[in-house]
Amino acid sequence: AQTPPFSIAIHGGAGTISKANLTDEQQQAYRDKLKQAVDAGYKVLEHGGDSLTAVTTAINILEDSPLFNAGKGAVYTYDGGHEMDASIMDGRTLNAGAVAGVKHIKNPIDLARAVMDKSPHVMLSGEGAEEFALTQGFDFVPVTYFDSDARYQQLLDAKAKLKQAESNQEGKADYQASLNYLDLDYKFGTVGAVALDKQGNLAAGTSTGGMTVKRFGRIGDSPVIGAGTYAENQVCAVSATGHGEYFIRYHVAGDICAKVKYQQKSILQAADEVINQRLITAGGTGGVIAIDQRGNIATPFNTEGMYRATRKQGEQAKVMIWQDN
Ligand code: ASP
Repeated sequence: AQTPPFSIAIHGGAGTISKANLTDEQQQAYRDKLKQAVDAGYKVLEHGGDSLTAVTTAINILEDSPLFNAGKGAVYTYDGGHEMDASIMDGRTLNAGAVAGVKHIKNPIDLARAVMDKSPHVMLSGEGAEEFALTQGFDFVPVTYFDSDARYQQLLDAKAKLKQAESNQEGKADYQASLNYLDLDYKFGTVGAVALDKQGNLAAGTSTGGMTVKRFGRIGDSPVIGAGTYAENQVCAVSATGHGEYFIRYHVAGDICAKVKYQQKSILQAADEVINQRLITAGGTGGVIAIDQRGNIATPFNTEGMYRATRKQGEQAKVMIWQDN
């Protein structure tokens, strides 16, 4: 039987990217890093490596870059810290691993992978996740590793705007106001990857610093299997980025795969329906990268831009930010 072409797609977040506030040099820096990451994942596949390794290889490069809201570039919480979430799923076995609210792990996707491979659990959070990391010999980094002036400025701006949104309601904490504010103006930049390897196995992974000014131990969609990440052989693999509260409630990654599996929709149609119809009606912004068993790739998003790159067997990488380029 003919094997499908191996392929990979990655994203570096959607959201408040706009042509108006991104210089040509900045755009080029993002494009260069996306290309480096997608090519590294592609090489793994080309050499016969599995889709899980392609996914973590690409994500590690994005986590180590300060450009993206994951690992090194993680955004600040309301209290001025960093709390990272990540997950990974193996389409062959439906095994999955996830971590939430980790603070000292340089590459949270690797810890998610260890949870999948080396623990009897799927999701570990906070101190427990870091305790597990210790037992697995992970290197810890000080919290200052994740600090950056640019992200700190975003926190200050976001806090000022949030205060304004809330004080319109007579100074009382107004969570609807803050939700509306966050949806309009928070900083995205989550990273993710989906891949199909030569053996026909699908995998998906996602890693994030979450949302700027998030509070109270908030956990987004990225570590939630079925919301931010999903992979099932013969069906599809999805990694999401966007306003996590909506992606959890609308079960975005799982819903796309269910449409492919039970309604025989194409990956393009399934992903488009969820992102450009269901989520828009709900008011949830963001996008996904999705790949099916034949290596077809869909990358819909309902924001002005989404950092992304794809590469299919025998082709060069395609790197894009906006709807059309
Ligand atoms: N989905 C992520 C979250 O809500 C944020 C993002 O994609 O930028 O935590």
